[in-house]
Amino acid sequence: ETKKVFNFGSGPAKLPQPVLNQAQRELLDYDGIGISVLEMSHRTSDFSKIINSAETLLRELLNVPENYKILFLQGGGTGQFSAVPLNLIDLKEGRCADYIVTGTWSAKAAKEAEKYGKVNVVNPKADRYTGIPDSSSWSLNPSASYVYYCCNETVHGIEFNFIPDTKDVILVSDMSSNILSRPVDVSKFGLIFAGAQKNVGCAGVTIVIVREDLLGKALKECPTVFDYKVQAENNSLHNTPPCYSIYILKLVLEWIKNNGGADVMEKLSKQKSSLIYDIISSSNGFYSCPIDVTCQSRMNIPFRIGNIDGDQDLEKLFLEGASKLRMIQLKGHRSVGGIRASLYNAVTVEETQVLAAYMKEFVKKHQ
Ligand code: PMP
Repeated sequence: ETKKVFNFGSGPAKLPQPVLNQAQRELLDYDGIGISVLEMSHRTSDFSKIINSAETLLRELLNVPENYKILFLQGGGTGQFSAVPLNLIDLKEGRCADYIVTGTWSAKAAKEAEKYGKVNVVNPKADRYTGIPDSSSWSLNPSASYVYYCCNETVHGIEFNFIPDTKDVILVSDMSSNILSRPVDVSKFGLIFAGAQKNVGCAGVTIVIVREDLLGKALKECPTVFDYKVQAENNSLHNTPPCYSIYILKLVLEWIKNNGGADVMEKLSKQKSSLIYDIISSSNGFYSCPIDVTCQSRMNIPFRIGNIDGDQDLEKLFLEGASKLRMIQLKGHRSVGGIRASLYNAVTVEETQVLAAYMKEFVKKHQ
């Protein structure tokens, strides 16, 4: 038996153990049909059942209204940085869109959208991303085709715990790193997208939830594989979809359902993240998290050791010690450094407690 590893990676990230066990059991012979999902045509009734149940489960778990389509696409979150403007920037005349930029991922999305129209960043550019500028200071343009934001900035650890009020303008959100970690009122959005590889599966499939009446406005240069209307009309089977990733998604959604759904995921995420934030805030400055307390992420917790810019030697020591205890993928994103603990759905409270205990011990030794 392999020794237990504690995976705090930011994505691709830990999958629930029962999901991996089931995938292993079914790898060579899926459901008694004698072949693997890896070898199965996407046009078979067996695969139809897989993709349809992934959709049904998602609809149920997120309470997706009937007038929304659910698509399973390739190209990752990054693909959606292009697909969103390619499909939606022409909803209104003037081809402009508003972007709320609160970190790396919304900044990248805004930059990509500039290829297709006018992008208005509604908040002043920050030297350092440390929070969400007060919504009263946003300069929203009422004639924008949509307002875009990233619900959880994975690198900086900044999470929206409110839905921006955009009046009548369509709202678009990147939920790649916090989808299904809590309930969400889908009806407030024109479109939600999320790569699966953090909270709901493995890399390769990107979920798009889009309101039906927004389809059919794609720019003519929009690649067909990214045209939401074409994909919606074909049940995401315009071309070969990422079959195996959709199968893993289905297994994870079943696991979430069996474990109580979005409400329970939310409760657990609060419990897990509090364990770590409490240690940071009670460490008398030994650990520091640069993010405003009002928007600290439940999913990704970036922190420094020693001071706000980090004591490199201590941080190195921390990571080495963690790795000896088989706590892995804790290194901060290369653009910000430091440490980052990611606590997605599959990471358990017990695993988080092991990290918490190590953090406490480390303070004692090095204070
Ligand atoms: N959005 C967010 C919030 C992300 O965290 C990431 C990837 N970590 C992306 C988009 C980009 O996703 P991908 O690498 O699948 O293109």
